[in-house]
Order: sequence, then C-alpha cells, then structure tokens
Amino acid sequence: MLIFVITYKEQRMDIAPLASWPIQIDHPIIIAGPCSAETPEQVMQTALELGKSTKVNLFRSGIWKPRTRPGSFQGIGEPALEWLVEAGKASGIPTTTEVANAQHVEACLKAGVDVLWIGARTTVNPFSVQEIADALKGVDIPVIIKNPINPDLQLWIGAVERFLNNGLNKLMVMHRGFSSPNPGIYRNAPMWEIPIELKALHPDLPIICDPSHITGKRELLLDVAQKAMDLGMHGLMIETHPTPEKAWSDARQQVTPERFVELVDHLQLRTENVDQTSSAHLSGLRARIDDIDTHIIQLLKDRMELITEIGEYKKDHGLTILQLERWKEILETRSALAKKLGLQEDFVRRYLETVHKASIKEQSRIMNEGQEDQVMWS
Ligand code: PEP
Ligand code: MN
Repeated sequence: MLIFVITYKEQRMDIAPLASWPIQIDHPIIIAGPCSAETPEQVMQTALELGKSTKVNLFRSGIWKPRTRPGSFQGIGEPALEWLVEAGKASGIPTTTEVANAQHVEACLKAGVDVLWIGARTTVNPFSVQEIADALKGVDIPVIIKNPINPDLQLWIGAVERFLNNGLNKLMVMHRGFSSPNPGIYRNAPMWEIPIELKALHPDLPIICDPSHITGKRELLLDVAQKAMDLGMHGLMIETHPTPEKAWSDARQQVTPERFVELVDHLQLRTENVDQTSSAHLSGLRARIDDIDTHIIQLLKDRMELITEIGEYKKDHGLTILQLERWKEILETRSALAKKLGLQEDFVRRYLETVHKASIKEQSRIMNEGQEDQVMWS
C-alpha cells in the first residue's frame, strides 16, 4: 500500500506522498482545534494560539455537525469553510474537517481544506462511505477514517478498503471509542483491543487516537492520550476552544489551547523501535516470559488431564458436571490468592471462568461419549 510520511520541515508538518515501507512517523501527529466552527473570531483565535506551538500539525474545525438530536447546534455549514481555511493560512497550520457526503467533499476541495476526515456516524454507513470515496476518486488528498460508532472492526476495515479501491492511499484511521450500554467512566468505550487488532492486521496504517470523544471529559484526556502513546498509536486529535465551557458543542470535553499545549508537553512519547542497548535487556525479559508461557501451557495440559479423569468419575457415579459448591470454592480461594499477590482480581476471575468453561466442555464430551448411538436407537 502506498502510504505517506509526516516529516517536520522548518518544525511544521509537511504531508508528502511517499511509496516507502515501513511508514516513517518520527513524531506523533497532533491535531487540535474546536469541536465546531462557531464564529470567524473563535476559529481564528484558536488557530493563532495553537500556531504558537510547533507541535500542532493539523487544525481541525467541525463545519457540519452530525448531532444525535435535532434542535442542537448542527454546525454553521459551508460559510465556515472560509473561516477554517483563513485561520489555517494565518496560523500556518494545515486544515482538516469532517465530510459526510459528496457535497461536503466538493465544498472542501473548492475551499482548499488540506485533509478530510470521515466521522464515526458516517463510517457506519457503507453507502455514505462509498459516496465520499467516489467523490474523491482521482483526488490526491489525505483522508482520516474514524471507527464506526459500533464496535465492528470489519466495518471499519471495509471503509478503508472503499477508499483504497478508489486509488486513495494517503489514509489514516482514527480511534474515537465505541457506543456502548456500559462505557464505564467514558463517553465512548475505548475497547482498545479493536484498534490493536486493526494495527496487527494493517501495520502500515497510521492510527490516531481521539481522546476527546472517548472521554467526553477534559479531566480524563491526559490518561487516555498517554495510553494511546503507550500502545504505539501515531497521533492524537484533541478538541480545543478559547472558552471551552461556553462552546456550542462538546463543552465538557474541550480544553483551551494553553491547556492543550501543557497536555502534549506532559506526554511520555514511546517508540516501537528497540535500539541496540535496550534490545539485549528486552530480549532477556522476553525469554523469561517465553519460558513462563511454556510452563503455563504445560500446566493447563496437566490440569485438563485431571479434568478428563474427574469427568469419567462423575459419569461412572451419576454425578452432575457442575458442582456449585466446588466452583464457588475455586473462585473464592483463587481470588483471595490473587488479591494477596496484588494481581488484578477481574483478570484472575476471567481466567478462572475461561478455564471452567473449557473444563465443562471436556466433561460434557466424556459424559456424552457413546450417546450418539443411544439417540439413534431410541
Ligand atoms: C468530531 O470529531 O467532532 C466528531 C463528531 O466526532 P465523532 O465522529 O467521533 O463522533
Ligand atoms: Mn466534538
């Protein structure tokens, strides 16, 4: 896949096409700007303040806002495109906005927006994604594809493929969390395993994290942004507003440009590239992990052999597979031990449940051995 490289030229990002492997991103891609463009002054003020930091690579502003309920602020629409582009020029930061249909694409291309993104409510709809990909056929512009609102990795990958199929290869994806009945403390459940799986399947696709829409609260931004860096994500998009609490949309999650710069300065940056000195140490630790995993698997095999014997005993003595008292005792004793050792209790509980499930499956196999014949005769 043709991918593009982000380099720092005179300290500011240059987006240059490059047919290279692997991708080279030597610094997180930082995107900042208001949730929505509200007034020309608000857009310009945010951009100029962000422009003081060379760490900001892209200036964002929502022009068309997909809102859950009608009646809330739906964005200024096309007139605000000019404010965005002007603010980009004045601050020297390339611009980006969300497009949800072919008309948005046309207006953005006409206005000269540098990068487009596809929102979570659009990625979810293959017809809309295809419409946008078709409108961009033959256009050389970077596109960022947010995850769909529902935790469906295939749908996300499908959206990426629709752009690739139309010859768009300057692609990035953005992790903004997933709608969930149990998002925990977050607005959208991060479900980190999904972007991690995407990264494993497509190591060439840069992944940006959007802590603003994951957390929904500014006080949680730093933790989520750091976690994204710890997981080797390639950048961050964080909503910034000169007066966040007065913002017309997403007031609870926006931060001032000053606070934003502080946040970025606080981040511990990580690299996946292991240098020579740390590699010997890391290899040593990994060798020990390999050893421990081998032991654990051997022990699981020994445990399963005992389960087979127990299954046979229960079968011979007409006992049920599930012995509730014994299962409770296992949960209690092992959880207590995990607690004493300082292990995460929910992790140990999930392990026990998995082992128990496999054990029941094995005992059911034993109990029902030869039963097929009896069914046929009955
Ligand atoms: C946004 O970035 O302003 C936005 C609407 O995000 P999402 O599509 O992730 O909800
Ligand atoms: Mn927003």
